[in-house]
Amino acid sequence: MDINLFKLCSGLKFLGYLMILLVLAIVAVSYYAVVLLTWGPRLLRGGLSSFFAFFVLLLFHLLLILLSWSYFMVVLRDPGSVPENWRPARDEENFEGDGSYLPHEASGSGSTWPSSNGSEGRPRSGFCIRCQNGKPPRCHHCSVCQRCVLKMDHHCVWVVNCVGACNYKFFLLFLLYTFLETTMDTLVLLPSFIDFFSEAKDHSDSPGKLAVIFVAFVLNLAFALSLLCFLVMHGSLVFSNTTSIEEC
Ligand SMILES: [Zn+2]
Ligand SMILES: [Zn+2]
Repeated sequence: MDINLFKLCSGLKFLGYLMILLVLAIVAVSYYAVVLLTWGPRLLRGGLSSFFAFFVLLLFHLLLILLSWSYFMVVLRDPGSVPENWRPARDEENFEGDGSYLPHEASGSGSTWPSSNGSEGRPRSGFCIRCQNGKPPRCHHCSVCQRCVLKMDHHCVWVVNCVGACNYKFFLLFLLYTFLETTMDTLVLLPSFIDFFSEAKDHSDSPGKLAVIFVAFVLNLAFALSLLCFLVMHGSLVFSNTTSIEEC
C-alpha cells in the first residue's frame, strides 16, 4: 500500500507545536544534566578539572546559542513565497503569440515540477490552481501551509514550517549545530553514564540525579546518530543541487 508522506504530514500539523515543546524539554534536560549536575560543580574544584569544565561549559553555551538562533530562524522565517500575480518574465512556452499567459499545468495536485532531465532540458514554470497564481520552476504547493513555497524541500513538523529557498540555510545550520551539541553532550556525559551503574548499585547518589543523567545521555546519543544521517542526506542533496521533494 502506498502511503503519501506529505498527506500524512498534513494530519500532523498540530503535532508540530508539541514538537517545539519537546525540543525545549530535551534542551532543558540536557542543560540540567550537563551544566547543573555534572560540569558546573567541577568548576569549583580548581586546577585542571576547573579549566576543562570551563571549556566544556563555554562550548556547550556557544553551541546552544547557535542552534537556538538557527532553530528560531527556520521556525519564524518565510520559507519563500511567490509574489502575487507572478508570471514568468520570458518563457516562450508559457505565452501565446498575442502575449497572453498559457499555464503549463493546472491540475488539482498543483504539482508542476517537470524534471530538469525532461525533453526541454530545463525546469519549467506552471500554474497553481489552489493559489490561483503562477508557479516558478522548482516551486511546490504545501498542503499543510496551504501555499506555494519556492524551492520547497519538505514541510518539517519539528519547526512547524516549510523548509524552502529562504530558510534552507538555517535548517542546515540547525542540523549541524544540533549534531555538534548532541555529540558533545554524549561525550561529556559518558563518564557519568558509566558511573551510573556503579553509583546506582552503591546508592551513593540520588536516584533523581542518576535518572536525569541517564535520560540525557540516551536522548543525546539517539539525536546525534539520527542527525548524522540527516546531515549526510542533506549534504548529498546540496551537492547534487536538488531537494527532498525532487529526489522523491
Ligand atoms: Zn500553491
Ligand atoms: Zn508547509
